[in-house]
Amino acid sequence: MEAFRKLGIIEPVLRSIQEHRFEKPSDIQEKTIPLVLAGKDVIGGSATGSGKTLAFGAGLIQHSEHGRGVQALVLTPTRELADQVTKALRLFSRYRPLKIIDVYGGVSINPQIDALRYADIVVGTPGRILDHLERGTLRLQAVKILVLDEADRMLDMGFIDDVERIISQCPKERQTLLFSATLSPELRQLAGRYMKQPVNISTEIYVDPRKLRQVYYDAPDNMKFSLLVHLLKQEHPGLVMVFCNTQKNTDFVAKNLKANGIEALAIHGGFSQAKRSRTMENFHSQRTQVLVCTDVAARGLDIKGVSHVYNYDTPKESKQYIHRIGRTARAGKEGKAVNILSSRDYDNFEHVLRDNDVDIPKEEMPAAMERVFIQFKDKPRHFGRKPFHGRSRGNFHKEGRSHHPRRF
Ligand code: AMP
Repeated sequence: MEAFRKLGIIEPVLRSIQEHRFEKPSDIQEKTIPLVLAGKDVIGGSATGSGKTLAFGAGLIQHSEHGRGVQALVLTPTRELADQVTKALRLFSRYRPLKIIDVYGGVSINPQIDALRYADIVVGTPGRILDHLERGTLRLQAVKILVLDEADRMLDMGFIDDVERIISQCPKERQTLLFSATLSPELRQLAGRYMKQPVNISTEIYVDPRKLRQVYYDAPDNMKFSLLVHLLKQEHPGLVMVFCNTQKNTDFVAKNLKANGIEALAIHGGFSQAKRSRTMENFHSQRTQVLVCTDVAARGLDIKGVSHVYNYDTPKESKQYIHRIGRTARAGKEGKAVNILSSRDYDNFEHVLRDNDVDIPKEEMPAAMERVFIQFKDKPRHFGRKPFHGRSRGNFHKEGRSHHPRRF
């Protein structure tokens, strides 16, 4: 506790940290908390799993007092992250009672309107926050601290205009904290426009490379799904996240895993908020072990005990790969990231290797696999019967594209 106290954290917050059994501050907490408490603007290069919620939460909780209007506003890209941040802030402020209210779309607005009357800290997604601002049910003139959480994701999701409109309604005299796993030029511009001499803090994504094994399989196009089923059944993993690039593939994989006797749930932005919350509860409580998801739905979620991450589709953006594998091998636990490649993943995988400077060994396809049952409703492309060309001992090239074998 001494280490947390030295950062300037006050007794009531220390008490709840003690209850969380945190032994020492994480890297981002150590670097950020003193600056946040001193009122500085901070850009924290840090992803979920780094402990960033307490890094900004300590400032929010210590600098807010109940009954003085909304003094802190946290913008998050997704409803799930808003929910997670709210829950964490409520726990950290257990001995310093504050009204922390989350507002996001997809659920009824009226209970939010009632709750906002007494709010001290508001956490929410840009669309719904704007909605409340337009209705006059949320006022920001008392805001002292503005947090942009997972700012890169908010920009990727097209929230830039909404975010700027919200910022323009906050008092100019305020502290702004921005957290983001990556810092694009667009984000730097945003910081330049709205932050005052921000201090840049960078920390590593909290994945322990000694604890994380990464492999790839080079699967013929029509065996991708069979391989996934085989691996899920053979490896007896703990909680599993299977990543797909599209909502359609997510539905397809979840449905067909179930058809093959594997309890799986899908989560993506196409589902109602109630359904997404139910799914996350099932997964958190380990009632369902396999979560099939898109990046957007999974982004920022802090789920404990994920032993395996499967990339059923290789991410298009190579930085996304790091976000995905960051779901496992956390907090000292072992983890495995398995990439199931077929021909349509080669380009993306090449970018992943190049941009992230990772070395991922190849695993041979299993000699024998069970037959699987596949329901094709909207027949996805990669389940077609395209012949597979050019594979040879870890090197391959696509016919007609390159004369050089690809080496992964
Ligand atoms: P966050 O990045 O804020 O979502 O935090 C990720 C996870 O790390 C959460 O489950 C936190 O409860 C946990 N955590 C945060 N700070 C610490 C710490 N200093 N020691 C151990 N666990 C922590």
